[in-house]
Amino acid sequence: MTDEHDGSSEPDDRRIETRSIHAGQDPDEETGALMTPIHANSTYEQDAPGEHRGYEYSRTGNPTRTDLEANLASLENAEYGRAFASGMASINTVLNLLEAGDHVVTGNDVYGGTHRIFTQVYEDYDLEFSFVDMTDLEAIESAFQENTELLWLETPTNPLLSIVDIEGAAEIAHEHDALCAIDNTFATPYLQRPLDLGADIVSHSLTKYLGGHSDIVGGALLTNDEELDEEFGFYQNAVGATPGPFESFLVLRGTKTLPVRMDRHCENAQAIAEWLEDHPDVDRVYYPGLESHPGHEIAAEQMDDFGGMVSFELDATMEEAGEVVSNTEVFTLAESLGGVESLIEQPAPMTHAAIPREERIEAGLEDSLIRASVGIEHVDDLIADLEQAIDAALE
Ligand SMILES: *Cc1c(COP(=O)(O)O)cnc(C)c1O
Repeated sequence: MTDEHDGSSEPDDRRIETRSIHAGQDPDEETGALMTPIHANSTYEQDAPGEHRGYEYSRTGNPTRTDLEANLASLENAEYGRAFASGMASINTVLNLLEAGDHVVTGNDVYGGTHRIFTQVYEDYDLEFSFVDMTDLEAIESAFQENTELLWLETPTNPLLSIVDIEGAAEIAHEHDALCAIDNTFATPYLQRPLDLGADIVSHSLTKYLGGHSDIVGGALLTNDEELDEEFGFYQNAVGATPGPFESFLVLRGTKTLPVRMDRHCENAQAIAEWLEDHPDVDRVYYPGLESHPGHEIAAEQMDDFGGMVSFELDATMEEAGEVVSNTEVFTLAESLGGVESLIEQPAPMTHAAIPREERIEAGLEDSLIRASVGIEHVDDLIADLEQAIDAALE
């Protein structure tokens, strides 16, 4: 369906379960091979100088990457897709669009790596950032300045799973002639399609649910704006942070099962969140699928389900919570998320250790907060594991 060799995706009204398997991936015309080959290749024969068959050099374009880009574009209901070497490389590419003196409005709880590239890399290039509570549209609005060119946000956020109203936020950005970019890593296009809600750019870490098996690092940018896509293509080639064919192949393999994996992630996470909510040693559960979650209504509107990430606070010290995450046997104590296997971590000494304690507590990240990336194992085994881990640490 997409033989244009440019990662674009044509309108396709088949459902996402069908597109995740087929979009961008027609069987090979010559051999009938069903799966996109791993085109391990740096350069391409030209028929005459400058006359090539769509590819010149694999930094600029590679057929395995093209199929991945077309597949991801289709999943996000985007016209154009570009794949990158990591989620951070995608984010970097969006920042490449800006110029010294520009201002960015973003969330006060964005992914740690995003916070780092904003403050430790691009402030040195005279970009200016305001970090605000994105759940409050008035706070977003009042952070805008004359020179604001970009609104960058995540929803659900990490690790408190706060929900941002994408439609409302995009409207504010557009009133100020700024671009609205959404990091859709936590929700995935199976649960939430920000371009349909007014965003201009979707960014992904393919490392998480889209790859889905904790075996690659990758990123992507999706858009319906041809000029933006051309700029992204320029930076793919000019900066060179593109994924290799093997990584591209593995993500294509991953997206085929995205819908069935996400269904199970959501089902397990909902059951675990409800179980935790009734647990006497648990003070608070953060999961947008719970009615007690302040963003539940917006999430129910803009998402098709509530995702696989659950965070909770124990009635315990930092050390006791550390014991809980060390005690689990099915959940692996590790950073990252989105794979088929369940992971567990404690943000305070791990993923969010760089934030000074006072600031961290003020942002709502308590010492005893635990974040789980709920996998697709049997939910009874997961609950039994959490139960034994909590009991052993707190009794
Ligand atoms: C992991 C992650 C990133 C960074 O992606 P990498 O592939 O690790 O570079 C960006 N945003 C979010 C929300 C993430 O979870």
